Amino acid sequence: MSVLRKEMFELPEGVIYLDGNSLGPLPKGAVQRAARVIETEWGGELIRAWNSAGWMELPRRVGDRIAGLIGAPAGSVATGDTLSIKVYQALAAALKMRPERRVILSDSGNFPSDLYMADGLMRTIDKGYELRSPAPEDVAEAITEEVAVVMLTHVDYRSGRLHDMAAITARAHEMGAVMVWDLAHSAGAVPVDIAGSGAEFAVGCSYKYLNGGPGAPAFIYVRPDVVEGIQPALSGWLGHEAPFAMELGYRPAMSTERMRVGTPPILQLAVLDVALDAWEGVDMGDLRAASQALSERFIAEVEARCPALELASPRDKHARGSQVSFGFAQGYAAMQALIDRGVIGDFRAPNIMRFGFTPLFIDEADVVAAVGILAEVLDGELWRAAKYQTRSRVT
Ligand SMILES: *Cc1c(COP(=O)(O)O)cnc(C)c1O
Repeated sequence: MSVLRKEMFELPEGVIYLDGNSLGPLPKGAVQRAARVIETEWGGELIRAWNSAGWMELPRRVGDRIAGLIGAPAGSVATGDTLSIKVYQALAAALKMRPERRVILSDSGNFPSDLYMADGLMRTIDKGYELRSPAPEDVAEAITEEVAVVMLTHVDYRSGRLHDMAAITARAHEMGAVMVWDLAHSAGAVPVDIAGSGAEFAVGCSYKYLNGGPGAPAFIYVRPDVVEGIQPALSGWLGHEAPFAMELGYRPAMSTERMRVGTPPILQLAVLDVALDAWEGVDMGDLRAASQALSERFIAEVEARCPALELASPRDKHARGSQVSFGFAQGYAAMQALIDRGVIGDFRAPNIMRFGFTPLFIDEADVVAAVGILAEVLDGELWRAAKYQTRSRVT
């Protein structure tokens, strides 16, 4: 069944948006909801809104809606903060579960912030921890009995390569390691069965495929049977069992809520709540089929019409997430020239032109039209113009 619902998004005229994997578009109704939160709830209700407008329930409500998209049971997903912080919390909790081990295993395809957070955490603990980052293909073999935690991003942000979640989690558990999955490029992109995988932790963000807007809150899943044993590294008052008891001592909530830290970002949560309406009734199997059809069509068109570009994603559609990357030495300038002509993708150093396929608002006609413009940029070497050569802060 088609999952296309373009009418639920505010897409600017003349733009083909192939970057919903990086920042999802504005959902219809988000502006009205934000205005209501600001004017009526905050403006009119003032502090009463925590109760009267349901602000206090919002983090949990949104967490349950995300849970439905990643195969997690209700009550197992907490929201708030940014993904980098959720990575830190998951990793810190996971290390505590294997106090005798000293190795964190990730891979060289992981998003830098995940690796940086691991590095910072290891320095803070200062107990001789080691971070190993082999090539993604070599991870399974690198899971040994020295490894305390395997921390991987399910879909590689650069190549789109997909890890086998079930097999790697099983291998981690066989070796006695704890598993942390980063679902930044999976939630809303590919079917995920996090509960079925048996992983202890999963984290992700909501501004990519979930369309929650810039700075939208992150999420963290903790496997329900381990949650009561974990020690939150960031023991803030809203992760306390009874925040308004104002006790002097920290007593963690008896659920994933213990992974919450401070005051929730109500405006962002409200917008994300609207964004999640677009996922109502979407079958993730249908979404996956549509995403694969779009990606396959894109690859075929690019390879036929843009011979200068080299596929930098796995060719097998089952081994990719919902994005396709092509390598091109002048990739940055070419992407700027493309964006200037209304086709928005992005660039990741050193030479990757990255395109995301989001079947809620992209169809095959968009894909074909986008490649037509890409071919013009390459055939005419339009990327040579001086204005495309200077790099902006965000690429
Ligand atoms: C997008 C992304 C992040 C970004 O983290 P923030 O704290 O939200 O800025 C981190 N890790 C991965 C794997 C990502 O894809």
